[in-house]
Amino acid sequence: MKLARNIIIALIAGVIVGLALNLFAPNVFGPVDTYLFGPLGTIFLNLMKMLVVPVVFVAIALGTAGIGDPKKLGRIGGKTLGFFLITTAVAIVIALTLALVLKPGAAGDFDTAGISYEAQEAPPVMDTLLGIIPTNPIAAMADGNMLQLIFFSALVGFGIAMLGKKVERVKEVLEQANDLIMYLITFIMKFAPYGAFGLIASAVGSQGFDAISAMGMYMGVVLGALLIHTLVIYGGAVSLLGKRNPIWFFKNFFPAQVVAFSTASSAATLPVSMKMAQERLKVPESISSFTQSLGATINMDGTAIMQGAAVVFIAQAYGIDLSMGALLTVVLTAVLASIGTAAVPGAGLIMLAMVLTSVGLPVEGIALVLGVDRLLDMVRTAVNITGDAAAAVVVSQSEGVLGEPDGDGVPAETETA
Ligand code: ASP
Repeated sequence: MKLARNIIIALIAGVIVGLALNLFAPNVFGPVDTYLFGPLGTIFLNLMKMLVVPVVFVAIALGTAGIGDPKKLGRIGGKTLGFFLITTAVAIVIALTLALVLKPGAAGDFDTAGISYEAQEAPPVMDTLLGIIPTNPIAAMADGNMLQLIFFSALVGFGIAMLGKKVERVKEVLEQANDLIMYLITFIMKFAPYGAFGLIASAVGSQGFDAISAMGMYMGVVLGALLIHTLVIYGGAVSLLGKRNPIWFFKNFFPAQVVAFSTASSAATLPVSMKMAQERLKVPESISSFTQSLGATINMDGTAIMQGAAVVFIAQAYGIDLSMGALLTVVLTAVLASIGTAAVPGAGLIMLAMVLTSVGLPVEGIALVLGVDRLLDMVRTAVNITGDAAAAVVVSQSEGVLGEPDGDGVPAETETA
């Protein structure tokens, strides 16, 4: 908790410094950003990213070896994917509803005539899913291709479970490697406050605040939907299905959320979010590694919320009505788009092009939301990884393997029962 407190202090300091430079000394901001904020942020991001491939390989191989039984593996996989898909669809519905009621795009006069946006080619979702089997696992690791890495690691773990005693030593090496990586995560996290300071000062300092005031309504819709989804859907799932006090859940997972917020990358946050779930939420390593690595890659409710809200906002700004059928298409394509979104900063916006195209909206509309996306990205990334942790708690509880919480983790009614 001391670490989380230090990161928060660093974030607040970063906001103040970034804001002050933006408002009072915009000329100074450039060099300070280049030589101080930027490097601090990059060092921290790179340190975290450095551990992602080793942590996923070791944790998933060990996790799968721990579960062993293919039937059980399939059951856990099914529950995990079910939770991911349902919560993502619900997230989009919340965002669409809020945007349709509050009409953020009708609020101001948005100049849609002169804008342009160079849409990048979104990777076809089907290709991503079918490309899950790596022809070269080393290349998959080198490229950081998460789905391929997960597939290969799970297969290695499966082999270890099947061969048992014969490969005992391989398992032992992986276990020790896991201890080593966990130590390195703790060590690197000492640098987190400095990194967080640099990242937030850079993000806040480079924002144009005119953009923010015009986009206040849109930001309000996205943030409101993120908040509702987190509190009601994740809080509800943790309480009803996970049988844990949601306040305990949020409190203990908070350090990971702060890191996600400052890095805006689910992938870079993965080592910390797994550590928090295992050590504090008492999710067994096998389920945490599987559910959270997969979730960081394909389960992005925060991103889906932004996409849903942005579609309605852009339609309203262009004065285009969305039919019921179009809204349904948005739900479907935004689920797919959020699955296909890479777990790195800004990726959700690239995939937004796919959702807009699916209902015939102009892709240039993305230019309208571009200016404020960096800040929203930070918040939605924190939501993205919270969904993965909630899934890990719920799936562990349903398998009867969720560990006993320290202190106040049991909901009041269960405690007195
Ligand atoms: N930055 C987000 C993440 O890493 C993805 C996005 O852009 O929405 O989870």
